[in-house]
Amino acid sequence: MSPNELSTATAVELAAALRAKTMSAVELTQACLATIARENPVLNAAITVCGEQAIEEATAADTLLRRGDGGTLTGIPLLHKDIFCTRDVATTCASRMLENFIPPYDATVVSRLRAAGTIMLGKTNMDEFAMGSSTETSVFGETRNPWNIHCVPGGSSGGTAAAVAAGFTPLGTGTDTGGSIRQPASLCGITGLKPTYGRVSRLGIIAFASSLDQAGPMTRTAEDAALMLQVMSGLDPGDSTSADIEVPDFRANLGDPISGLKIGIPKEYFSSSLEPRVAASIQAALVELEREGAELVDIDLPHTDQGIPTYYIIAPAEASANLSRYDGVRFGYRCEAPTDLNDLYERSRTEGFGEEVKRRILVGTYALSTGFYDAYFKKAQQVRRLISEDFNTAFETCDVIAGPAAPGVAFGLGTKTTDPLAMYLEDIYTLSVNLAGLPGISVPAGLLDGMPVGLQLIGRAFDEATLLRVAHRFQLRTDHHLARPVPTAVNP
Ligand code: GLN
Repeated sequence: MSPNELSTATAVELAAALRAKTMSAVELTQACLATIARENPVLNAAITVCGEQAIEEATAADTLLRRGDGGTLTGIPLLHKDIFCTRDVATTCASRMLENFIPPYDATVVSRLRAAGTIMLGKTNMDEFAMGSSTETSVFGETRNPWNIHCVPGGSSGGTAAAVAAGFTPLGTGTDTGGSIRQPASLCGITGLKPTYGRVSRLGIIAFASSLDQAGPMTRTAEDAALMLQVMSGLDPGDSTSADIEVPDFRANLGDPISGLKIGIPKEYFSSSLEPRVAASIQAALVELEREGAELVDIDLPHTDQGIPTYYIIAPAEASANLSRYDGVRFGYRCEAPTDLNDLYERSRTEGFGEEVKRRILVGTYALSTGFYDAYFKKAQQVRRLISEDFNTAFETCDVIAGPAAPGVAFGLGTKTTDPLAMYLEDIYTLSVNLAGLPGISVPAGLLDGMPVGLQLIGRAFDEATLLRVAHRFQLRTDHHLARPVPTAVNP
């Protein structure tokens, strides 16, 4: 493989090349590091690069491979979103609050992927504490979209999405609380899967909203997503919300036909909030699924409009509780020369958190306060139930739901930063899925004026296998996922 092919190949292809000995894990890792060195100064997708450590890990992988040992992921490089605790490697959540935090342990996702033989190239940029849809609130500065560097990559896992799209790595991790894997995957033209709540352990993932957060794979293909999900999934005694439910072989039935499968099309997802040309791309993708033998059926998700207000009570409420631990005492940023304990708390939090994080803490604390709890938090929990029931009803008549992942393509840097509500609308098609705890995937569905569009597929709880199968059949039939941005040097 040429260096160029190396940095655009899938993990499955790279694994075959490693086994065929046409290249080594060290060569592959060096090629990824070279792409990062060349592209990252412009894109700012990676905020920590572990060059030396990666080469050491690759050397160990080569030893295994030479002996014919190891699994499919042995020697395959990856990047982790900087929300996953990584032993001895800075984990900042892109916040001043955690700028100097070096965890003493690995998140379960990290240790499982490490045990599977992957090479950790480093950590990726994100919105501060995963709050945002554009990767512009990072204390390390914004990430740029490799398809157009004047546009955002989406968020909050925008660093990983840009990195996979730009050829830094075939694989990356993200987390999705309201859309943070699927929306950046859509805006950067890659495949991003949010698993069912409980499928993947949250241990060692810095908490945003605990009843919504879920980690997932960000890759170039559905097949690679299946490969990663296989390793990431399963019960973890260290996370009481991780599900004690069998993990199927996600690759076993990937290629099975989808004829007869019923795909539900919610009319609420094709309303005026959807950019008409994006709607046309999604319709074209649906025609392809029909040609694969799937049957399209109309469904209703009547509480779709209530998704955003409900999410923006529940997520900030949980965030305000989770973020109360950053008090300047136990860990995290501490202000200089506090005059007393209150001054220490106040100034550490004032100086350590960015504006959007503070907005969420204020909203969340308000919604949980005596006198407002019933009107806001309790009401939001009730509406959450209705949203969940909408999906249950829909899944009585269909097997998978399809629609857009985001209301438009990538938008210009800075165009939504002063208008939080406009930013919140980015997740209109994704966050209900988190409220209902269901799995969802975004797959590339073509380009509009050179910018990617994502098709979202939503599945029944713990039925990631069907989502992956539909996505894989779509990728066998179309070549949208093969499109790559040109290197930034020729993309001014
Ligand atoms: N954009 C949404 C928010 O800001 C979702 C973020 C996420 O999924 N982490 O809360």
